[in-house]
Amino acid sequence: MNNDCLFCAIAAGTIPSVKVYETDAVLAFLDISPVEKGHTLVISKRAHSETILDTPPDIASELLAAAKTVAAGMMAAGFGGVNLVQNNFKDGGQAVPHIHFHVIPRAKDRHGPLVWASGSNPYADDAERNVYAERIRAGIEAAQAPLPS
Ligand code: 5GP
Repeated sequence: MNNDCLFCAIAAGTIPSVKVYETDAVLAFLDISPVEKGHTLVISKRAHSETILDTPPDIASELLAAAKTVAAGMMAAGFGGVNLVQNNFKDGGQAVPHIHFHVIPRAKDRHGPLVWASGSNPYADDAERNVYAERIRAGIEAAQAPLPS
């Protein structure tokens, strides 16, 4: 990991985040400036790389699998759709040079292509942020639960 990297510090827990899903390999946490409420970022806890190009395939696979887990949880939580976004390089709109997937839930009444405007849907307060985090956590748990026999 990289001592000068914001997302490495979040992965290590030295900078706090609102977590929605975590394993030994990955962390998913709420974006500080959500494009939609529930906007989640997925990062690796195992390695620092900047873009999809310098990310080893096993790390990329873990990130995509975790993004899928979060997306499944969002759908189980009753959202209407999900967008996955992964920006690379400054010209690609990447602001934080540590690879991450954006997993963006769409409310049932928000049809159509995602409008990418950082911070365009802020939470009213910490309580509302926590409601979204808890809803996504519960959805992930429900989506992972074994079917009743
Ligand atoms: P990028 O533009 O690099 O694809 O996305 C970086 C994302 O990280 C942005 O959506 C931005 O709001 C988010 N972000 C930047 N700093 C922080 C932070 O300190 N905490 C959290 N939770 N998100 C952050």
